[in-house]
Amino acid sequence: MMPVVFVGHGSPMNAIEDNQFTRTWRKLSDKLPIPKCIVCISAHWLTRDTYTSNEEHPQQIYDMYGFPPELYALSYQPPGSKLYAKKIQEELGIEVQNDWGIDHGTWSVLTHMYPQADIPVVQLSIDMTKPYQEHYDLGKKLRNLRDDGVLIIGSGNIVHNLRLIDWNRQGGFHWAEEFDAYIRDCILRSDHQAVMEHPMSPAVPSTDHFLPLLYVLGASNIIDQIEVFNEACLMGSLSMTGYLFHR
Ligand code: ZN
Repeated sequence: MMPVVFVGHGSPMNAIEDNQFTRTWRKLSDKLPIPKCIVCISAHWLTRDTYTSNEEHPQQIYDMYGFPPELYALSYQPPGSKLYAKKIQEELGIEVQNDWGIDHGTWSVLTHMYPQADIPVVQLSIDMTKPYQEHYDLGKKLRNLRDDGVLIIGSGNIVHNLRLIDWNRQGGFHWAEEFDAYIRDCILRSDHQAVMEHPMSPAVPSTDHFLPLLYVLGASNIIDQIEVFNEACLMGSLSMTGYLFHR
């Protein structure tokens, strides 16, 4: 059975930087079985209703603004998969939409985890109108794909408040560290209900970067081992913390 991963992707610049977080992403993939396909739930594909993409050659999209040219020069163009998109459609009962592509929530991480871009990638969109429980339930439906060689990756950030970012600050604000630790403790005791009933916090001013975690928790299994990686808050209001669920 394939593992499930939540990755805190942080700044798009991580795509072209070599730092403690990106080095961990590189090492992470070495520990995993080689997937037949990667299904990524990125915080950046937000829709009404839930969709998957099924193009054979999905377009890489540069859905971020005001960064240096090197970032827009990064090419990450994995194949898509009609076969696995079909399986996702069937498991989740959803439609296909191909007007998006592979966004930076996906490629900024995968360019480190799978630099050859030789593993098919399919994205799943996030319906922003759904309550937490429905995202979690969709994650549960993804779980069967783990038996089929699919690596499920949720890419977001548990603490993500761009408005309150302090570029010069090393660690997190007190409330950011506290929220990150709250979620970690809930996950480590497999209390997913408590994750979904988290206290109101400036850590989650909007749910887009938090929701990918719920898919990952839904797709995890009570008998999985849980590893926490990149556990850190930075720039005050961002956390990079990631989770690996595996047998
Ligand atoms: Zn993001």
